[in-house]
Amino acid sequence: MSAGVADIVADVVVVGAGPGGIAAATRAAESGRRTVVLDEGAEMGGNIWRHRAGDGVPTQARKWMARFARSGAMVLNGASVVDARATSGGDGFLVTAERASLACRVHGRALVLATGSRERFIPFPGWTLPGVHGVGGAQALLKAGLSFAGKRVVIAGTGPLLLPVAATLAGAGARVVLVAEQAPARAVVGFAVGLLTRPESLLQGARYRAGFFGTPYRTGLWVSEARGTERLEAVTVTDGRTTREIVCDVLCAAHGLIPNVELPRLLQCEVANGAVVVDNHQQTSRPGVYCAGEATGIGGAELAIVEGELAGLSAAGSATDVELLRHRLRPLRRMAARMEHAFAPRAELRDIVTPDTIVCRCEDVRLRSIESGWNARQAKLYTRAGMGPCQGRVCGASLEFLFGWHADTVRLPSEPALLSTILAGTADESADSLHQGA
Ligand SMILES: Cc1cc2nc3c(=O)[nH]c(=O)nc-3n(C[C@H](O)[C@H](O)[C@H](O)COP(=O)(O)OP(=O)(O)OC[C@H]3O[C@@H](n4cnc5c(N)ncnc54)[C@H](O)[C@@H]3O)c2cc1C
Repeated sequence: MSAGVADIVADVVVVGAGPGGIAAATRAAESGRRTVVLDEGAEMGGNIWRHRAGDGVPTQARKWMARFARSGAMVLNGASVVDARATSGGDGFLVTAERASLACRVHGRALVLATGSRERFIPFPGWTLPGVHGVGGAQALLKAGLSFAGKRVVIAGTGPLLLPVAATLAGAGARVVLVAEQAPARAVVGFAVGLLTRPESLLQGARYRAGFFGTPYRTGLWVSEARGTERLEAVTVTDGRTTREIVCDVLCAAHGLIPNVELPRLLQCEVANGAVVVDNHQQTSRPGVYCAGEATGIGGAELAIVEGELAGLSAAGSATDVELLRHRLRPLRRMAARMEHAFAPRAELRDIVTPDTIVCRCEDVRLRSIESGWNARQAKLYTRAGMGPCQGRVCGASLEFLFGWHADTVRLPSEPALLSTILAGTADESADSLHQGA
């Protein structure tokens, strides 16, 4: 161990403690492998299970948390992974994280990346006003203690996530005045009909809808402007032919989820259509690196769990249950593909952005500063779009949607970090020497 740097040696290192990472770590540890999970969150559970301590924890989450606790896997919460690389001896991987301002290095023979997803924001005039949040972002704020009680809330965007968020906010005392789904009615109905083979999902959807029963849920409708002087006062919604103004205090707007692929990209794993490419062992194009959950494509918690189980077993070199899990994957992946198709952002969303609309909020770059003939790199060089603290996590996907660009390469660190952490990660030692010493 170097001064001020914690070194940990494992067989399997898992990044991400959402449903996918928890399942992967549990299965690897149950197979007898020393397993370490790192997650930047203060608690385990990822975007869906985190912050739900107490009575509200779903049965599935409780079951997996208990199984994880029994498995012997170790978890490091509050550990933000900033680098992952093969060791110089080619005998494993070195994962560097920052935890309470200290560097932490975890060495493993195999790596499972279960980094999940984040929201996709498509800019519109006024989207940076105070009072405008993401959809999942508003839910996270609520779970973290922000009160929406008595606030007039419009929820807009796309995908199944609109429903639980509307139900949760209404349950917390918000006056949800409208839920606007941009997908056309036929796409939403087609998706729901496809769920007839999964009655439990339909029932869940119906329960969420009951949670905001008095509020209109409109399809084929999207926000074209958010207005206000100091903060949000009203939004304009449109169906492409007519517009309507709605007075509100809060707008929750996002256009679905996109995979977090920064760490896989750092490791040069193949990424296609924004998601990590895996084989039928969940192995990426880089041998020894596995990927599970929404980093391989958006598909919900159940798909993340099955992929996680398969990735954990494969990383541990175990063939137990592999055929059974592959069998369970197929219908879940079909549903994920149907969801992607049904809730794809419509082309008209490109038309609501005006020359004055901010497209990179970290660097305050407006659409008019970007020339349509440029590529992502030119926009970065000439306007600093994507060069701010979010490092393109927000504007990267927006600009990709608006201009059809492909995301730029990722550089170290994958998350903001202290220089001492970055340096700790680049002082390589072969995994073998550490494994022998362990
Ligand atoms: C904001 C948001 C809210 C959501 N709310 C709901 C909901 O209410 N209901 C629902 O059904 N689905 C919801 N989803 C979708 C749901 O989270 C996923 O379907 C499911 O959790 C996927 O599991 P996962 O393990 O792939 O990823 P996640 O649950 O997203 O877990 C990924 C984990 O990786 C960690 N991580 C990522 N990068 C790093 C890094 N560099 N260093 C350390 N840790 C890292 C994150 O902290 C996170 O805990 C939401 C998604 C988002 C983005």
